[in-house]
Amino acid sequence: MSKDDKQEKPTKYIFVTGGVVSSLGKGLAAASLGTLLEYRGLKVVLQKFDPYLNVDPGTMSPFQHGEVYVLDDGAETDLDLGHYERFTSGNLTKNNNLTSGQVYEMVLEQERRGDYLGATVQVIPHVTDEIKNRIYNVAKEQKPDIIITEIGGTIGDIEGLPFLEAMRQFALENGKDNVLFIHVTLLPFLAAAGELKTKPTQQSVAKLQSLGIQPDIIICRTEHEIEDDMRHKISMFCNVAQHAVIQARDMEHSIYELPLELRKERLDRIACDSLRLTTPTPDLTPWENFVQRIISPSHKVKIAVVGKYIELQDAYKSIYEALTHAGAYLDCGLEIQRVDAEDIEKHGAEAYLSGVGGILIPGGFGDRGIEGKIEAARFARETKLPYFGICLGMQIATIEYARHVCCFEGANSQEFDEKAEHLVICLLEDQKEVDKKGGSMRLGTWVTDIKPDTRTYDLYQSATITERHRHRYEVNPVYKERLEQGDLIISGASPDGTLAEIIEIADHPFFVAVQFHPEFLSKPNHPHPLFRGFVQAVLDSSELPLR
Ligand code: GLN
Repeated sequence: MSKDDKQEKPTKYIFVTGGVVSSLGKGLAAASLGTLLEYRGLKVVLQKFDPYLNVDPGTMSPFQHGEVYVLDDGAETDLDLGHYERFTSGNLTKNNNLTSGQVYEMVLEQERRGDYLGATVQVIPHVTDEIKNRIYNVAKEQKPDIIITEIGGTIGDIEGLPFLEAMRQFALENGKDNVLFIHVTLLPFLAAAGELKTKPTQQSVAKLQSLGIQPDIIICRTEHEIEDDMRHKISMFCNVAQHAVIQARDMEHSIYELPLELRKERLDRIACDSLRLTTPTPDLTPWENFVQRIISPSHKVKIAVVGKYIELQDAYKSIYEALTHAGAYLDCGLEIQRVDAEDIEKHGAEAYLSGVGGILIPGGFGDRGIEGKIEAARFARETKLPYFGICLGMQIATIEYARHVCCFEGANSQEFDEKAEHLVICLLEDQKEVDKKGGSMRLGTWVTDIKPDTRTYDLYQSATITERHRHRYEVNPVYKERLEQGDLIISGASPDGTLAEIIEIADHPFFVAVQFHPEFLSKPNHPHPLFRGFVQAVLDSSELPLR
């Protein structure tokens, strides 16, 4: 058979829906299945459909949405895409996150162009076609063996209906052997009755069935082991094979245990059988070793993350994950102390930071808590505590250095005080004309040249790097020379030399700050070099006793 005669294997499709309550960990379940299928030798691509009307989450506050995850191509996406990229080798694009806002934007643009001339434009077929097209396009462009599509929201949400209808049609078009539905649900434990309850699961599955979708696998989030009789009951009421009723207990130590737990439940095997895929048994040893180092590390350190959304689980998600990857690599457990920058403003840096081994200041917008962060950076510089600044964390470090080392009194960022005498951080040149808020920052991958003989070079071992960005402000070029007069070095810059991308302080155990977001490129068994360098510096200077 010639190469041209060879039939391409059809892409298989898995849809993941959620029932009963939100925050069930659907994204993690989808990502974990992705891990297992990849370990079976399949090329897996994950994507997320979000039913809300925003075009993308870039304009939402962390209170609404948690972290905004940025891709290479500059797409501002849902944080689940972070799980997808971390749990698989995938490098995703803007096509891997679709919102209702984007769907309606496309449909209305086509309507105005006259593409539907003569027709009434409707949810079925125009909106549903657009949704299906996205899946077909990703299959065509990225050519995976399997696409796992997670549908955001909970079954029963009005805005999710067009997506579910599109899924139903998609299954019909592609046939049973090529499409699999997984429903993630909750089995609440009623303490008074002393038992797990299946009724909410039954009801949410009934709702799915009423929309023409029959789940093939049910993943039950549960705090307690589910016995065979309960699996049998769910199987009977939900019309799902008993072996396809799968439990997902809360992970004791780390989210990275989930692929291993789901493997025990044979989720990957059931999915492959149902999709008629013959694949080898996965050898998960590298993943198991990674998890083992998280669970029982040989060393321990304490790191403070100073931010203004510290109480939110998800606001700095990728940062916590990148720290975990670095910790696992160095066989070092991390105790993270989350410090509210406003508390430092009230009570001083020492009260919150004196016992920690290192300080990380993440990205952010707006002036709340800024002075507290500046105090934290000063504390790190003066007491020689390892400091790692990310995006806003670099701008903070620059302001602090300008104020207290260069003696530029009242130095500030244009973002916080337009009238400050020394605007050491100013709006990027090409942001000056921008008046729209959505998708208009300096976004995505940009190249940075690294200065030789710097700590940064030492860590990257490379003269050029690419990293993901999301910002509007930069170190003011007018101040660069004056800032570099002491021991501050601009160790990374844009290839044309205009934009400071990385700063470091020479006479310090570790003081590195970057204008980009290295946390988006860290993977479980490949920690980002800067995170690895930071955790190593903390470990070198302040290891804690294990217990
Ligand atoms: N607010 C700053 C800017 O827009 C920092 C952005 C960030 O930390 N992502 O430049």
